Amino acid sequence: MTSTEFRKAAHELVDWMADYMDNVGTYPVKPNINPGDIKAQLPHEAPETSEDFEAIFSDFNKIILPGMTHWQHPNFFAYFPSGTSGPSVLAEMLSSTMGAQCMIWLTSPAAEELEERMMVWLRGMLGLPDNFTGVIQDSSSSSTLVALLTAREVHSGYSINQSGFEGKARFRIYTSEQAHSSVDKGVKIAGFGISNLVKVEVDKSFAMNADALEKAIEADLKAGFIPLCVVSTIGTTSSTAVDPIKAIGLICKKYKCWHHIDASYSGTALLIPALRWMSDGVELADSFVFNPHKWMLTNFDCSAYFVKDKKALTSTFSILPEYLKTPQDHLVNNYRDWSIPLGRRFRALKLWFVIRSYGVEGLKKIIGEHISIGQWLKEEVDKEGDFELLAPVPLNLVCFRYKPANMIDENQLNDLNQHLLEGLNSTGKILLTQTKLQNKYTLRFVAGNNSTSKKVVEDSWSLIKSFARGINLSKFMNG
Ligand SMILES: *Cc1c(COP(=O)(O)O)cnc(C)c1O
Repeated sequence: MTSTEFRKAAHELVDWMADYMDNVGTYPVKPNINPGDIKAQLPHEAPETSEDFEAIFSDFNKIILPGMTHWQHPNFFAYFPSGTSGPSVLAEMLSSTMGAQCMIWLTSPAAEELEERMMVWLRGMLGLPDNFTGVIQDSSSSSTLVALLTAREVHSGYSINQSGFEGKARFRIYTSEQAHSSVDKGVKIAGFGISNLVKVEVDKSFAMNADALEKAIEADLKAGFIPLCVVSTIGTTSSTAVDPIKAIGLICKKYKCWHHIDASYSGTALLIPALRWMSDGVELADSFVFNPHKWMLTNFDCSAYFVKDKKALTSTFSILPEYLKTPQDHLVNNYRDWSIPLGRRFRALKLWFVIRSYGVEGLKKIIGEHISIGQWLKEEVDKEGDFELLAPVPLNLVCFRYKPANMIDENQLNDLNQHLLEGLNSTGKILLTQTKLQNKYTLRFVAGNNSTSKKVVEDSWSLIKSFARGINLSKFMNG
C-alpha cells in the first residue's frame, strides 16, 4: 500500500468510525447469527494475489460487521463494559502507525517514561498510596498471575524460579467464593495446584467473611501448609461485592501473606473520593490491579498493576541475556522485567490522550452519572412488587430477577428468568448477562457505557417490565 493509497483509505475509514460512534445505537446489540455463519463466508485459503482496499473494506461491511456484538451500543448492559472513546482510538492510530515496541527503555524511551508518568497519574487519581509503583499489563488475569508469582518468589527467596517446587511445603492461596475465575487460572499456571486454592465463604452482601479467612489460615497452619497469598476483590464480577480490604490486610500482615487486590472493574470508581471506603486499608496491600480498559474510556487492552515492593516484582521477572543489555539499565525501567511477555505495545499513549481530553473532573462526572443511573434503576426495581433485587448495589451493577406474586418454586423462577433474559436478548434491542447468586438465576444490568444515558436506561427498564409481564406463566408453573 503506498502512502497515497493509505491516505485515501484512512480518510474513508475515519469517516466510517465517526459515523459508527454516532450510529452504534441503530445496530442490533447482538447479532442474530449461528456458529459457523461467518466462517462460511470466508475462503479456506489465503489469497495468492493482492486484493484492493475497496474489496476488503466492502467485505468488512458485508461479512464482519453483521457478525459483531456492539459493546459500545447504548443498550449494551452485559458483562462489564469494555469502554473506548475518541481520544483513545486516536492514540491507538498513532501507536499502531509507529508500530512501537516498548520492551525496554532504549526501544522506545518516550513510551517508557510516559508509562511511568501515567502510572503516577493513575495512582494519584485513585488515591492509592505513594509507595505503590505501577506498570501496564495486558489484562487483570495477567496482573493477578504476576502477583501470585511474585508472592511465590518472595516467600521462597527466589528459589522456585531457580530449582522448582522440589522439597517445598504446599502453599495455600485464599480468595472468596465470589472471586473471578482468573484467580483459579493464575493458581493453576503458577504451579500451586488448584486444590490449594481455598475459597472463603461470603456474607449476605457476597463479600468475603474475614473471620472465615482467618480460621482457614489457622487450620492450614496446623495442617502444615504455608499460607502464601490472599486475593481480595473490590467489586466482584457477579455483583460488585466489596471485600473488607482493611480486615483482610490486617490478617495478611499477621500471617505474613501477600495481599493482592483485584479491583478490575470497580477500581475506576475510586476516582470519586466519596467511594474510597471501598479501598480503605489499601495501604496494607502488596499489589492492586484495575482495568482502565473496562470503565475508564480506554480501549482494550490496558490493565494498571501496582506493587508496593518493586524490587520483588523485577527480581521475579528479570532476565538479562547479553543482547538485551543496555548502558541505561540502572537508570530506567525496563518493563520487560515487570511482566510475562517481552514485547509490549505502547499503551500509555491512549491513557495520556484520554486523561488529558476528559480531565480528571470529566472522568469523575461520567463515572458519577453511571453510578447515579445504577442507583436510580436499583430503586425502580425495588419499587415493583413483582421484581426482586438479589444483591446490594454499591455502584452501577443491578442484580435482579422477575418474581411474579404467585410463583415461589425456585426452579420455576430460574427457568422463568432464563427465558426472560434469552427473550430480551433475542430482540436485539438490549443485551444483558446472567449470574447465579445463592443458586438464584440472576439478571445483571450494568449501565457503564460511554454512549448510555438515563433515558436509554429508562426505556430499557420499561422494555424489561413489559416483556416480563407479557410472558405466559402457565408454561413455567405446570411443569
Ligand atoms: C473483568 C474481571 C477480571 C478479568 O479481567 P481481564 O482483564 O479480562 O483479565 C478479573 N477480575 C474481575 C473482578 C473482573 O471484573
